[in-house]
Formats: sequence, C-alpha cells, structure tokens
Amino acid sequence: MLLELLILVVLSWISLKFRFLEPSGVASAFIIGLIVIVFGGLGWFLLLLSFYLISSLFTKYKYDFKRALGFAEAKGGARSWRNVIGNGGAAALFALGEGIFGGGMFFAAFLGSISTAISDTLATEIGLLYPGKPRLITNFKIVEPGVSGAISPYGEIAIILSSLLMGVSAAIFSVEPEFSFIKVVCIAVLSGFIGSTIDSLLGATLQAGYWCDKCNSFSEDPIHNCGCEARFFKGVRFINNHVVNFASTLIGGFVGLLLSLILP
Ligand SMILES: [Zn+2]
Repeated sequence: MLLELLILVVLSWISLKFRFLEPSGVASAFIIGLIVIVFGGLGWFLLLLSFYLISSLFTKYKYDFKRALGFAEAKGGARSWRNVIGNGGAAALFALGEGIFGGGMFFAAFLGSISTAISDTLATEIGLLYPGKPRLITNFKIVEPGVSGAISPYGEIAIILSSLLMGVSAAIFSVEPEFSFIKVVCIAVLSGFIGSTIDSLLGATLQAGYWCDKCNSFSEDPIHNCGCEARFFKGVRFINNHVVNFASTLIGGFVGLLLSLILP
C-alpha cells in the first residue's frame, strides 16, 4: 500500500511536470488511482497505469502536427478533470463495485471500461495522423479530421491494437487467474471495439457539435481551439465529449461483464 501511494505521488509529479494533466486533472486522477488500488488491488492499478501512460504519450506524439490541423487537445495536451473522469470514472466505479461485492466479477467490467478508454483515446490521437479523410460512422460521408463520430482506418487499427495490448497486460499481471489468457484477451478486444464504436455513434448523433465561422471548421467545444466562440449546430447541448466518454466506458464495462459470463 505504501509503495502504491509512493507511485501515485511520483506519477502526480510527473504528470504536472510533463503537462499530461492540469492540476484539477491530477487531483481527480489521484483519487481514481487510490480507489483502484484500495478496492481492486495491484494488478488493477498496473492496468490503469498502462492505460494512463500509453494514452498520455500518444497525446504528446506529433502534438505540433495535430495542433496545425486544429484538433490537438488544448493546453499542450494537458487534460482536465472532466477528461480524467470521462475516461477513468467508470473504471473507478467498477473497482468500487469489486470492493463492495468482491469475487472478481467486476474485473471484466473494469477491463472492458479501460479497454474502451484506451481504444477511444488512441483512435482519436492516431486517427488524426491518417493522411486521407475520415468518414462519419453513421452515413460514411467524408468529413474533416477531428469531427466527432469520424472513423478512419488508422483509428480502427489503433482500437484493435490498443485493446489487444490491454488484454495481454491484464493476462500478464494475472489480474484474474480464474480466466484463461484467451478469455481475458477476448474480453478486452471485444469490449474495447464495441465500446469505442458506441463512442463514435454517440459522437456522430447525440454529442453537441459547434462550428467556428472564423476557421470554417468543426469544434467539439463552444469555444474553438483558436479562442473564438463557435456556434452550436448539432446534438444535445449538455452532451459533450466527456459525457460521451463516460457513457461509452460505462457501456464498454457492461459489455466486458456480460462477456465474462457468456465466454467459456
Ligand atoms: Zn476557430
């Protein structure tokens, strides 16, 4: 426990120093990390850690190129508490569930939710590097990079590889020795794929979309990255990217739980 606490403190410092997170993001990530350590255990924590480090590194990767496109994460890629809760809040809830009910039944839900979070993050960060134009998941029309609900071949490959990576890591950390290697990997890949596909579907339909008239481009937020106010044109106002992330990681988690019950 003392060692894990020490890791959390060191990680918080690294996250601030390298601007992976804003101070509010560090505070919420610390709480999520603590919940996962206390109620899940070391294996769960290592899985959360892998997700966090890999997605932070890919957010920084080719940051200047993504910023030139106008779709990099704002503030040098430092993520806010909303982003942290959107990606890790569901996982923390499943760890709490494990703490209350025990028996390892929430591990598959935790894995499904982490797998969805990493798939969605990497699909966005790597998808932005795709040289062609992405297509909208609902009607397959060509759209600009960064439009919510846009999918690309790079993004789909990122989804499969990153959820595969989470599955193999979970098996190596032997988080749930009752499950076979193949079962753990299948849960991670299927729930990651289904969860991030739902994320794209919600992104293309219910998620609020704004238009920056100055840059003539799509914005996920009412204030575009350029600093100008963007006008609302689609979706439901309160359903922003973070709400969509939280919903899809929750659904990805339930898919994982369901798979753990039906897979042999
Ligand atoms: Zn703009």
